[in-house]
Amino acid sequence: MEAIDPIVCLGIEATADNLGIGIAASDGTILANETSTHIPEKGGIHPREAARHHSDEIGETLTIALQKAKVEARELDVIAFSQGPGLGPCLRTGATAARALAAYLGLPLVGVNHCVAHIEIGCLATGADDPLTLYVSGGNTIVSGYEAGRYRIFGETLDIAVGNCLDSFAREAGLPYPGGPAVEKLALEGRSLIPLPYIVKGMDLSFSGLLTAAVQELHAGRWSLEDLCFSLQEAAYAMLGEVTERALAHTGKEELLLTGGVAANRRLRSVVQFIAEEHGAQPKFVPIQYGTDNGAMIAWTGVLAYRSGVRTPIESSYIDSRWRLDEVEVPWRG
Ligand code: AMP
Ligand code: MG
Repeated sequence: MEAIDPIVCLGIEATADNLGIGIAASDGTILANETSTHIPEKGGIHPREAARHHSDEIGETLTIALQKAKVEARELDVIAFSQGPGLGPCLRTGATAARALAAYLGLPLVGVNHCVAHIEIGCLATGADDPLTLYVSGGNTIVSGYEAGRYRIFGETLDIAVGNCLDSFAREAGLPYPGGPAVEKLALEGRSLIPLPYIVKGMDLSFSGLLTAAVQELHAGRWSLEDLCFSLQEAAYAMLGEVTERALAHTGKEELLLTGGVAANRRLRSVVQFIAEEHGAQPKFVPIQYGTDNGAMIAWTGVLAYRSGVRTPIESSYIDSRWRLDEVEVPWRG
């Protein structure tokens, strides 16, 4: 895999509540992957409070990452950062730090698309080569696959992400943050399948009606919280399964990758495993430390992009909080 000139890239992830600093070498070794998470005192993520957390913590997180990697700052070759999509104030904090580091060290800057990074770290960590990917997190829900220079989107959410749906429901139910793991645990004790909205429109998904209905049932008090968590998961993951299966059948890809923070969920993994087996594809699951938002994925994608000649001059390094996965050229594939 290693070409003539080995490089080391430092990646800064700051799209939402996680600040991540990762360091990756061009042979695919992850030398460091440090995360500092902003935990809101109440409610969901407040973008400016999360951004303040990131700027307060970035110095120490950076120092620890370099120490763990046993790398001196002057041994770095490239600085990469998440340029979008995500929450504006958080993205700006990460981008500002990246620009400052690159200028100070005299290094090239590479702006990375956060969604591309979730796919690339999934491929690196699982050995997937050309998968159909189900990327599910707190902020995104996308079914995609590589075709002719880009990751094409086959299906996506029309409103909120599946992780956001789980987190918001959990918050209403007084469960700990983040909600996904708490809902998963209670769902194991659920028995009755409560009728909830199942919303698939063509190849796209909607989770906001499901959330509203689940919250209404919660307040109506007719069912146990265990049954509600069980039913919420079953509805959400069946919807994801339907769209994923159609995309897999359509593309004929031989690998099915599950990536993003919600990829930690055992029930969703079993759905993905089942679909993959039905279609003779290999299921691939991102390991948890690379599933949730992290710096390693930005560093590794920075390596891939830099190696393909991608550079982000300072004047084009402004963030794009709505940067879509399918707008990104992916010259290192194909
Ligand atoms: P990310 O946005 O990629 O950092 O992932 C965070 C999201 O993953 C949050 O919405 C979490 O609730 C969700 N999550 C983490 N673990 C689980 C789990 N075991 N089941 C479902 N969702 C999860
Ligand atoms: Mg993410």
